[in-house]
Amino acid sequence: MKRIAILGSTGSIGTQALNVIRRHRDLFCAEVLCAGSNADLLISQAREFEPNAVAIADESRYGQVRDALNDTDIKVYAGTDAIVSLMEMESIDMVLAAIVGVAGLRPTLHAIEHGKPIALANKETMVVAGSIVTEAARRHRVPILPVDSEHSAIFQCLVGEVSPVDKILLTASGGPFRGKTREELATVTLEQALKHPNWSMGRKVTIDSATLMNKGLEVIEAKWLFGVDAKDIEVHVHPQSVVHSMVQFADGSVKAQLGIPTMETPIQYAFSFPERIESFLPRLDLFNQHTLTFERPDTETFRCLALAYKAIERGGNMPCVMNAANEVAVQQFLDGRIGFLDIADRVERSMQEAHYIANPTLDDLIATDKIVRQQ
Ligand code: NDP
Repeated sequence: MKRIAILGSTGSIGTQALNVIRRHRDLFCAEVLCAGSNADLLISQAREFEPNAVAIADESRYGQVRDALNDTDIKVYAGTDAIVSLMEMESIDMVLAAIVGVAGLRPTLHAIEHGKPIALANKETMVVAGSIVTEAARRHRVPILPVDSEHSAIFQCLVGEVSPVDKILLTASGGPFRGKTREELATVTLEQALKHPNWSMGRKVTIDSATLMNKGLEVIEAKWLFGVDAKDIEVHVHPQSVVHSMVQFADGSVKAQLGIPTMETPIQYAFSFPERIESFLPRLDLFNQHTLTFERPDTETFRCLALAYKAIERGGNMPCVMNAANEVAVQQFLDGRIGFLDIADRVERSMQEAHYIANPTLDDLIATDKIVRQQ
């Protein structure tokens, strides 16, 4: 039985991970559940999955969760520090990092430092501190199993390969605004941006998909996970979301991983690796999938992807600057305070104005994140 701690259990990835656990109770159990502020859902998840402990980041919700679970043996904690400390629990066999944003960095890093294998959905952790996180994983001999569907696909293409990668072909759906001009993007609404054609995800990642910042974050994530230079990671817009990504090798062969667009498959694969276990989801039906198309991304219109390549090329704390500015700008867009095109403008301005640090420590990155958010 693999005992899994879920960071972000109330989110899109977290709830899909619990679907996987629900279907395979003989193999997996939820040992710890952590949420941000959604006390009601955390309580009902705790009642169903009976974890050893639950934690809620928002301390004002502690009393509500404790009172609701006081007839059980489930330990209840609150606050960010408590979530971080919980990662030390002996009984945790794997941590699913599925908090959204840089808030996921500290608990994920702490889990790695305590030898816990990571199933990684929280891409911002890698974007902000990829060098520190991968170095910690190497030092503590901790595997990081990608959950992001593209990175899971690349990982699956690499299983059994001993030769270096020539190129990673990272697929992107293109989001709801594929093919639109800048003039058209100037007037798009929040409602339209939240309507992703193929995937149902949390609000932040859905907006990131619409701006193509999500793909930029994924390029940086792939660089760190697979040790491939960003210039060898090529984004291919593939609106059908059937090919989840591909790897090209020195002999010109290209391997791809295909499947229906669901996050439950990569989550389950990360949980069960190296085995593949039964899935009860529908199968990919290629007879009904009439076309598979691939296009170059339009980085002049969707500038966030170009900004991400710039950030990774500059290195140091620049991806952290970009990520912080993007998190704030996306929140402002979600709050109706700025327009869609302002997101890239704000990220770019933050990158131009930020104090650059070539070799940042973790403290430098935490400080950079804070300063950029304030600015
Ligand atoms: P959601 O917004 O749906 O969920 C985020 C989760 O994080 C919630 O459980 C939320 O709790 C929790 N949370 C937020 N802030 C904090 C905090 N400060 N401390 C503790 N917990 C917190 O996001 P997604 O599930 O969509 O995405 C999670 C991560 O996975 C992101 O990094 C995203 O990029 C990545 N990802 C997501 C995919 C998807 O299909 N959704 C696909 C690939 C990657 P609460 O609900 O209480 O606020």
